Parts: sequence; C-alpha cells; structure tokens
Amino acid sequence: MRATERLYYSDSHLIEFEAQVTDRTERVSGWTAVTLDRTAFYPTGGGQPSDTGTLNGLRVVECVDDDSENVLHMIQGRAPEVGAAVTGMIDWPRRLDHIQQHTGQHIFSQAFISLFKAPTRGFRVLDQSCEIDVELMNPTDAAIDRAVELTNNVIWEDRAITIKTVGADEAANLPLRKEPSRKGPLRVIEIEGFDLTPCGGTHAFRTGEVGMIAVRSWERAKGLTRIEFLAGGRALADYRRANKTARSVAALFSSARDDAAKLAARLVDENKELHRRVRGLDEIAARVEADELRRDVSLTVGEGLRIINKVFDNRDAESLKRLALALIAHPKTIALLGSHDKDAARLVFAKSADAPGDMNALMRSACETLDGRGGGKLDLAQGGGRNINKLGEAIDQAAKTLI
Ligand SMILES: [Zn+2]
Repeated sequence: MRATERLYYSDSHLIEFEAQVTDRTERVSGWTAVTLDRTAFYPTGGGQPSDTGTLNGLRVVECVDDDSENVLHMIQGRAPEVGAAVTGMIDWPRRLDHIQQHTGQHIFSQAFISLFKAPTRGFRVLDQSCEIDVELMNPTDAAIDRAVELTNNVIWEDRAITIKTVGADEAANLPLRKEPSRKGPLRVIEIEGFDLTPCGGTHAFRTGEVGMIAVRSWERAKGLTRIEFLAGGRALADYRRANKTARSVAALFSSARDDAAKLAARLVDENKELHRRVRGLDEIAARVEADELRRDVSLTVGEGLRIINKVFDNRDAESLKRLALALIAHPKTIALLGSHDKDAARLVFAKSADAPGDMNALMRSACETLDGRGGGKLDLAQGGGRNINKLGEAIDQAAKTLI
C-alpha cells in the first residue's frame, strides 16, 4: 500500500478534499483507524496536536502516523468501508490556531538565534498556550521582551513564507536553523529574509497571518529557559482573560483597572499593620483574662503554688498558648488549659520557672487519654487528640498528679 499523500504539505489552507479509503482497522472500545490514499489532516507530531474534522460527516477526533508513513484517522462508531470515496473536512478554527502557534514559534525561535545565538530545544502546543525551551543563558524580562518585539516586527512586516524541497547535498550548504531530523530530500520552510528551517508542519502563507505573539511567563528549567507564549487568537483570548481578571480586582477597589495593583499592595501593607496591632491587643486581652482566671478558677496547693485548669469551647492552639503564657508570667503558677471543637481536643500545659512538675511528661500522659499526640519541654507542652469526651478527665488527671 502506498503511503498516504499529505495534502497539507503543499497547501496548509486546504480544508476540504476528496479521497479513497485504503484500509481500516478496528481498535478497542469501538474505535476505527481509517487510512486514506490522500489526506489534508495533520497528524499529532512535532509538539503539535493533530487536526480534527470529519470524513463523510463522521467525526475524526485524532490523527496519528503509523509505522509505514500512513496517516490514521481515528473515528468512534460507524466508519467508512475500504474502497469508499470520502469527503474530508478539516476544522478550520483549530487548524488556523495551530498554524498561528507553530509559525509564531518559527519566528520566535529565530529571534532568539538572531539576538542571543540561543537555539530552541523543545516546543509544545498546550491547551491554552505554548511552551518553548530555549538555550538562553542569562534570561531576563528585558531580553525576552526584545525577542518578542523582534518577532512581532517580523509578523507585522507580513513577510512571505515559502516551502521548498531540497536534496541532502543542497541542504548541507543552507543556513538551516536546526539539524534535519530525517534523511533524504528535505522540506524547508523559508520566512523571507529571516528564517530557514526543515519542518513537516502547517504554516501560514505570510507572517501577518500569525497576528501577534505575547509572552505570559518564563522560568529556568533543567538548564534551559522555558517560555510560555501565545500567538494569534490565543493572545487575544489571553488578553481578554487577563483584562477580565484585572477589571474584577479593580472593581473590588472601585478603581481604574491599572490602579488596582497599587491599591492591592497598599491593602496588604495595611493588613500586616492590623495583624500587628491585633497581636498586641490579644496579648493585653490574655493578661486581663489571666487575672480573671487566677481569681475565679485557681486552686492553691502547698506553699502558694497555684494551679489553673480550664476547658474552653472552640479556642485555637495559638490563643490557648497565649493565655497560658500570660498565666505563668505570675510566679508559682501552673496552667492546664484545654479546648475542643466538634472534631478535636487541644491542650496546653505550662508552668512558671519556680513551679514544680514536668509539663512534657504530663502532656504525654494526657494525650494518651485523648487518643492523640503531643509533647514539649519541661515548662511548656502542647498536644491534642480526637477523644474530645475525655478532655476534662485528662486535665483533672494532670492536676491530681501535681497535688
Ligand atoms: Zn514548522
């Protein structure tokens, strides 16, 4: 069987074609791989997803190369028979999108060569954006902006893009941007006066068709610079998303869109200051509460030693600890505090430097009662567990040990 003739090689804008089914094989789960004598469908490859479309109105959801240079058209459900004449239709918006991303990448990659002698080592078309991995040694926003600017200038100059097939000998003498990945005659894509690259993909007829490119972000990755970019319609879609986000943030401040970042930064600063003040007030409140507890719930044992034990509802570990520290600021004091919400019990045990007892040992024992874990130092220990019904018992046991 002769290899599938690839119509997209000579015309990347051909979206309707006639062909004959030369083979079909059933695959798992009702899929059929249909082979044609000729096709305009681009199969998955070169970092680019395949075309989709229809054969006689039946959905082609993916196309892949097989081992003998045929293109397999994957159809789910009913598929045309071998020998049938079919009309193929390519989904043009998807093809145009891929043409824009892929051709944009040719120009962008050459821009990095022209400006920084930095070759591209990888390219992927993702769902909403694209990635290239560039051997750019000292990446900066400014360097990448220069490459974006050069790329857009080449796009807006609307240069011609031509395809020629050259022999291996001729190819060896051409200033190709990258080494050919196959032997024999080469398909070379020329962007007038700018770039010459062997490639089997689908390209714009002129650079203007790419529209524009924009970079969304970049990072260093495995010794390369990974750049996320978008071309053509994707750049517009991304602008719309970014604008919507920026406007919704601005609406929170009732501000103009471009003032929102400054106002958000001011709010973050104010928030930090408020947190600082709240912490100060919390400490004052803890001191006042500590005085009340010393008055109301303390138990005095032996030589003026005071034990304060209490269980609270819904009090977080930080607040419990703050209260315990306020209590043990007084001499000869031991604080045995607990709190519970519906899922968990928390404990903080603390003692002033002149009080007896080992809070770590007490806490370990209390946490066993609570079916949990905890520990700490001689004078301060924290813990908790799931057995909230035993919280009071755990604290009472600890108090008894000290008396
Ligand atoms: Zn290409």
